[in-house]
Amino acid sequence: MDQFAVADGELLIGGQRLSRLADRIGRTPFYACDRSLLTHRVHALRAALPVGIELHYAMKANPMPAVVAHMAGLVDGIDVASGGELQVALDAGADPREISFAGPGKSALELKQALAAGILINIESFREVELLRQLSAETGYAARVAVRVNPDFELKSSGMKMGGGPKQFGVDAEQVPDLLARIGEAGLGFEGFHLFAGSQNLKPEAIVEAQQKSFELALRLAKDAPAPVRVLNLGGGFGIPYFPGEQRLDLAPIGANLAALLQRSQVEMPGVRLVIELGRYLVGEAGVYVCRVVDRKVSRGQVYLVTDGGLHHHLAASGNFGQVIRKNYPVAIGNRMDGAMEPGVSVVGPLCTPLDLLGERMSLAHAEPGDLVVVFQSGAYGITASPQNFLSHPAAAEVLV
Ligand SMILES: *Cc1c(COP(=O)(O)O)cnc(C)c1O
Repeated sequence: MDQFAVADGELLIGGQRLSRLADRIGRTPFYACDRSLLTHRVHALRAALPVGIELHYAMKANPMPAVVAHMAGLVDGIDVASGGELQVALDAGADPREISFAGPGKSALELKQALAAGILINIESFREVELLRQLSAETGYAARVAVRVNPDFELKSSGMKMGGGPKQFGVDAEQVPDLLARIGEAGLGFEGFHLFAGSQNLKPEAIVEAQQKSFELALRLAKDAPAPVRVLNLGGGFGIPYFPGEQRLDLAPIGANLAALLQRSQVEMPGVRLVIELGRYLVGEAGVYVCRVVDRKVSRGQVYLVTDGGLHHHLAASGNFGQVIRKNYPVAIGNRMDGAMEPGVSVVGPLCTPLDLLGERMSLAHAEPGDLVVVFQSGAYGITASPQNFLSHPAAAEVLV
């Protein structure tokens, strides 16, 4: 993966040689996220998008406190998806005015926390309107709300669809006029709309289409809003390449389209702030997962590198987090970057299940016990998206370097 340099046959993470970093951390497995790559990604993205588009970090992609604190200093806002994430975002120093909270099934406790913090709440049901009315009356805290709309279209070619058709997310576009009327009656402070159609998309034309349709839909819905639309969150869905043949997303058409929408918004929704919210795209390529080879076995001619890490730390790389057909994440032997290659090598973990597979029949540098296996593209949906307690092995360390 070209985002990381190599020196003397070793991968450099945060400018440090991998084996030295492993010694400094004191144990394997670990996740390491490269601070300068995070910064670089945000700067490159801003350069590709028109000035005036606001950039939010959806922290469920990587909620490590040090990462959230670093991101909070780079982006315009943080999107949280639970009361727990809200605490981390506030600890990280994020400005509550620029935090928004989405997710189905928000509890009364979470809504009260959100009111007390003064953040923007993306309403996803009629129940939430009623609860917020009661809680706001009880506490005297003003409610800042936006409506999360389940659009009447899908984000095409998306890894995970989160809008269009029947969904647990948001309120169906057809029901939004009613919901807006209730928000007005309840006296909640309406600020805008939130549309999030899907995730992990590598087709710019699909993202452009979804953003255009989201804009049009918001324009139509704005007619029934109890107050002018001040924020329009157009979602995100920007993907990163994981598998052979996948290319990095071409941002040029997306930037051009957002520039056009920005211009239109000045006429058709004056004063609105256009926001996009990204998780994986901002952090995914900056992180690696590193585990150590514990054993090298040959079974009927096939080489297995048995490591101290596996699906309990990295469910996504094992192929069990939303993949339909298992494909290998990019993997390397990080302390033998110029070693002689060996074909047909499988990398497995210590769990007693054949699902515990980090790489299947790959071409890797010849490795022995003690060597370090690196799984790239691991900065998003890593440890917190994995069943860490499964089989009671030690937890993975996490560092930002
Ligand atoms: C998960 C999520 C995101 C982040 O998705 P990525 O694919 O990581 O960019 C953004 N917004 C909402 C509402 C989400 O649920």
